[in-house]
Amino acid sequence: MTPHADPAPHADPETGAAVKAADRAHVFHSWSAQGLIDPLAVAGAEGAYFWDYDGNRYLDFTSGLVYTNIGYQHPRVVAAIQEQAARMTTFAPAFAIDVRSEAARLIAERTPGDLDKIFFTNGGAEAVENAARMARLHTGRPKIMSAYRSYHGATSTAINLTGDPRRWASDTASAGVVRFWAPFLYRSPFHAENEAQECERALRHLEDTIAFEGPQSIAAIILETVPGTAGIMTPPPGYLPGVREICDRYGIVLVLDEVMAGFGRTGAWFAAEHYGVAPDLLTFAKGVNSGYVPLGGVAISAEIAATFDKRPYPGGLTYSGHPLACAAAVATIRAMEEEKVVERAAHLGEHVLGPGLRELAERHPSVGEVRGLGAFWALDLVRNKETREPLVPYNATGEANAPMAAFGAACKKNGLWPFINMNRTHAVPACNITEAEAKEGLAAFDAALAVADEYT
Ligand code: PMP
Repeated sequence: MTPHADPAPHADPETGAAVKAADRAHVFHSWSAQGLIDPLAVAGAEGAYFWDYDGNRYLDFTSGLVYTNIGYQHPRVVAAIQEQAARMTTFAPAFAIDVRSEAARLIAERTPGDLDKIFFTNGGAEAVENAARMARLHTGRPKIMSAYRSYHGATSTAINLTGDPRRWASDTASAGVVRFWAPFLYRSPFHAENEAQECERALRHLEDTIAFEGPQSIAAIILETVPGTAGIMTPPPGYLPGVREICDRYGIVLVLDEVMAGFGRTGAWFAAEHYGVAPDLLTFAKGVNSGYVPLGGVAISAEIAATFDKRPYPGGLTYSGHPLACAAAVATIRAMEEEKVVERAAHLGEHVLGPGLRELAERHPSVGEVRGLGAFWALDLVRNKETREPLVPYNATGEANAPMAAFGAACKKNGLWPFINMNRTHAVPACNITEAEAKEGLAAFDAALAVADEYT
């Protein structure tokens, strides 16, 4: 990567304090009690790192919100956005625009199966909203099934399809959503003892749920191919092919949500490749252009696209396929191809992050399980390896969450910005970090896990 003009963070606490004060005066933050937060003022970012105004530099093990798959400030993508801005900053979605069709072609060529049409949105939740609408209109059926341990976005339908506790406050409007348990052997909802049993029981449970709901009422099953926010739970190899078969048997649309797992994160363009399945609809966002300009979308099968061939699709967004976002996507996908970012993520998973995290798990009593692939890993932190009691209770806040807060503070002290969700920390750096950077992250985890160990 071209070095940043000023890569070394320099301290400027006065500016930092002013930036923070302005934020606190007028910015209303997501998922937060506004009076209790203290957001870090960030001065700059490049590659796998960002830095604050106090001269602290952090290795970003969160990739923002798991989206900067090619790191911050990739010069080719920055240049493509600048060129597009000079040429045609914006144009409405009803027109044919070169960069929009090129982005759609590059995405369609990389998605599995016959997902050849792309409906563009501004992010993941809107992609899920539209996938749900397409499935309902295509089948004429009302219900959508989703997994408990899942996250699909924060708009009205997407939050109701979400399984994790962030949905609780919005639960009054969950009409038409049926939830089920997807496989997760380490904390098995089916009390299974091995992966094959977990897979078989999960598929039986899904089919039983469908039978009692009435298959003729179910439009779609939506699953994250590898559930992300809920814990990076790689499914048993037979699970998704089994779900595909059930969907085919009952005429149910299979939606795979690859908003987080897509675009190289798992060491494949799309995680569905690892399991040999092709969905009918695939939702994407984040890695499509590393979030440099907001973009998401739905990749649509030929059969579902045909439903809307003579009949209008009743949905749209003012900024659908925004030229700046599409230019960023074209440049990102080309850079990923040329710099072999997908292969690098696979290599990182197999040879650096996977073995390195497993080695930490052997030495640290607080690491119950290591799960993941590519640049997509979770450590399940526990009080007791035998009982698997989570390091903090489910959905803990305040004092009950102290062990995870202490772990997070120790990561930051050691120069790593951690992703923390409940009793888990996720190692989700940029997919193109070097081995040395990944090892730096592992060393910071090692030091921070010693703090977590104190609570075991
Ligand atoms: N689906 C999945 C799998 C996600 O991880 C997310 C975001 N974390 C979303 C949907 C929602 O995306 P957005 O925040 O862009 O609306």
